[in-house]
Amino acid sequence: MSGPRAEIIAIGDELLHGSAIDTNSSWLSQQLEALGVHVDRFTVVGDEPGAFEVALRGARDRVELVVSTGGLGPTEDDRTRHEAAAVAGVGLRFDPDSWEWIGEWFAARGRVLSEDNRRQALVPDGGAALRNDFGTAPGLAMDLGSARFYALPGVPSEMRGMFGAQVQPDLAARFAGRLRPVVHRTLNVLGPTEAALGARIADLMSAVDGDVRVGVTAHFGLLRVRIAAHGHDVAEAERLADAAADEVRPRLGDELVYEGDLDLAGRLVEQLRHLGLTVATAESCTGGLVARALTDQPGSSAVFPGGLVCYSNESKVRDLGVSPQDLERDGAVSEAVAGQLARGVAERFGADIGIGITGIAGPDGGSADKPVGTVWFGLHLRDGGTRTWERRIAPVNRSFVRERASFEALAAVLRALRADG
Ligand code: ATP
Ligand code: MG
Repeated sequence: MSGPRAEIIAIGDELLHGSAIDTNSSWLSQQLEALGVHVDRFTVVGDEPGAFEVALRGARDRVELVVSTGGLGPTEDDRTRHEAAAVAGVGLRFDPDSWEWIGEWFAARGRVLSEDNRRQALVPDGGAALRNDFGTAPGLAMDLGSARFYALPGVPSEMRGMFGAQVQPDLAARFAGRLRPVVHRTLNVLGPTEAALGARIADLMSAVDGDVRVGVTAHFGLLRVRIAAHGHDVAEAERLADAAADEVRPRLGDELVYEGDLDLAGRLVEQLRHLGLTVATAESCTGGLVARALTDQPGSSAVFPGGLVCYSNESKVRDLGVSPQDLERDGAVSEAVAGQLARGVAERFGADIGIGITGIAGPDGGSADKPVGTVWFGLHLRDGGTRTWERRIAPVNRSFVRERASFEALAAVLRALRADG
């Protein structure tokens, strides 16, 4: 890949020691990748003298673009300006423009400028100050050998504002013609283990032509195949991404639930709205996780009239009309009960679709024929009858079983809609 490559350096003891999370680097990375710059590496360094200087030297030698955040404040431990000058082998000059900006910022807020702030008006020789309209600390832009370097403040809102207003346009001009914008495709899969899925697409994941990368991430058993394709322009990147998705898709078969960045419930609510259908939920072992996932989505009121957490046997019988004889005979975690929950809740709420979930989340309550992780599902479709099925979810822990079961239910509705439409 011939496009420019970048590294990001985050500065701050609080990041290194874990009391604050480095969100700046991930935000910057998304921006740079979208622009067409490939990010190779993040580094986090503390505030001790010399740490940033070492990191900056290394990055300058490896890539064409380095962006740092933090260490631009007025105190002794803010050394980004000094250490950048040391890497460039130059001195620092006092920049009257910066001083004026800082003065304006203070005056506009009726605050008094201190002598310490003069530190923030220092600029390495050969470098330029970047105006900060969002706070006091000006940033820096300078060349370090063959690399371009930008220093931005650590405060996320200031960093973001300055990146958009000043760094992005500068980069677009500087790397014009060489930028390789990235396009993503996401295929969401439920069924196989991560290892089994990985084996099916191993050749695509290890392909190293550089323009297309395929990876897998997992979230409670929902696997996302992520494709990132770089092109000379967005159209080329789209073509490459689509071609890769066409290769992946047949290897996923029926286990491909849907495509796109939305989460499972988001996608389901979108589809239900599109089709003008409603779903109601009867949840035992998931305790309302499905209802919660649905109602997390804006606009869910159009598709979700309601649900019940029917945790006890009494509730299953009294509230949803489950047969006491079936319950007695087969137990609460059974095919008969799952089906009756689905139908009962659909009828009770007048919904087009009913979901029933009953299972053993653990850690206790399992038996030889119904071990922890056994979950029965029912899906009732108005005019379409009731379908039931069982899953033996890996009993990783209680929350895994519950979350995985809720995904299973959401995915089943999505699949049913697909079969319908
Ligand atoms: P500045 O260059 O803006 O003066 P600083 O290092 O002097 O930065 P700090 O006081 O250390 O400023 O940090 C300001 C705030 O920004 C703190 O709340 C800090 O946790 C936050 N911050 C700094 N760096 C990051 C980062 N990489 N990601 C998220 N938050 C950050
Ligand atoms: Mg700091």
